[in-house]
Amino acid sequence: MKLVVLRLGHRKARDKRITTHVFLAGRALGADAGVLCGENDEAVLKSVSGVAGNWGGRFPVKHSPSYRKTLSGLKRRGFRVAHLTMYGERVEAVAPAIRRKARGRLCVVVGAEKVPGDVYRLSDWNVAVTGQPHSEVAALAIFLHELFGGKELAKKFAGARLSIVPQARGKKVLAAKPRGNQKRIYSRNAQL
Ligand code: SAM
Repeated sequence: MKLVVLRLGHRKARDKRITTHVFLAGRALGADAGVLCGENDEAVLKSVSGVAGNWGGRFPVKHSPSYRKTLSGLKRRGFRVAHLTMYGERVEAVAPAIRRKARGRLCVVVGAEKVPGDVYRLSDWNVAVTGQPHSEVAALAIFLHELFGGKELAKKFAGARLSIVPQARGKKVLAAKPRGNQKRIYSRNAQL
């Protein structure tokens, strides 16, 4: 599945941290790319690219001045659109149909400020993660989990400079040598 996260209506002054988290959660949980709509924000784009640079995988993220143009461009390329909103159909009911009908190409729209009405019409699915208002990061994470059925938790991140060895206590991080893929342990069982 090729999955693009479109962050709608980003406001530089208010949304810097949460928009960064939308992209980071998306990347960690199976998305392949991000589009920032609303105000351009180099700090967000740089921070997300920096994480991808260190922790592996490809996660291109760019600004688009027009969500309408971006959505119609993606639709021309065969993408279907799922918009996350508390007013939509329940995720647990609609995720299997999205998985089947998206045929490997999906754009997930996540709002910030009030979402313009045409987004509801342009979207193939308006999807609610419960009918309660909460957070775009939580909504995206649960949507992706329902969509991928848990497989996203085992996603591999090729070419990572840093990777974590899971363990019950302490912190173990592997760091790739500057050249080549060999990794060395640089922090071992740090006491917490
Ligand atoms: N007034 C906005 C609206 O019309 O949905 C709510 C703003 S909310 C802080 C920002 C974004 O979080 C929403 O645009 C939506 O993408 C997501 N979100 C919040 N609660 C959600 C829910 N229960 N289900 C799906 N998405 C939700």
